[in-house]
Amino acid sequence: MSAIEQIKAAVRDVPNFPKPPVIFKDITPILQQPELFRGAVDLLCDRHRRQKPDAIVGIDARGFIFAGAVAYQLGVGFVPVRKKGKLPYKTVEASYESEYGRETLSMHVDAIKPGARVVIVDDVLATGGTASTAAALVEKLGGQVNECDFLIELKFLNGAEKLRKYPIFAPIAY
Ligand code: AMP
Repeated sequence: MSAIEQIKAAVRDVPNFPKPPVIFKDITPILQQPELFRGAVDLLCDRHRRQKPDAIVGIDARGFIFAGAVAYQLGVGFVPVRKKGKLPYKTVEASYESEYGRETLSMHVDAIKPGARVVIVDDVLATGGTASTAAALVEKLGGQVNECDFLIELKFLNGAEKLRKYPIFAPIAY
């Protein structure tokens, strides 16, 4: 099996979490196997090694697990996008409708330097609302979204359509 196939085989489907009819893609079995965790981080990193972004933007909460490791590996900064009310300093905010209701995301006002080229990283691309809102926050601060990277894309939810302004990379698709 290729590295991608091994990582895909470790993803656990959890039906009806957090509520029906969602089939939750649980990535924690990947994290328990060091060679798979490293392989997943490498998949997200390798494409940026020659032309490094200025920062990796990671999305609350499982996105942080991969995005932090990617930023560390590339030797670039890490910017957290968090749910409203979690960041301590002054923030910019943007809202969207998710599968579960209205969500607001926030980012520190000084997190992105004007003109900075960033890559957004999350574990799963579903409807695209989360990543497109994170991208809007980056652009609000004058940054440029070079690419949106996910370990997993749920193609049947058409998230790529909401992100059509940006290149997308997702090695595992359903
Ligand atoms: P969306 O905004 O619909 O693209 O949802 C993406 C966010 O919700 C990501 O941060 C994912 O971690 C999470 N998410 C949405 N649907 C799923 C799913 N079926 N399995 C795992 N995570 C999901």
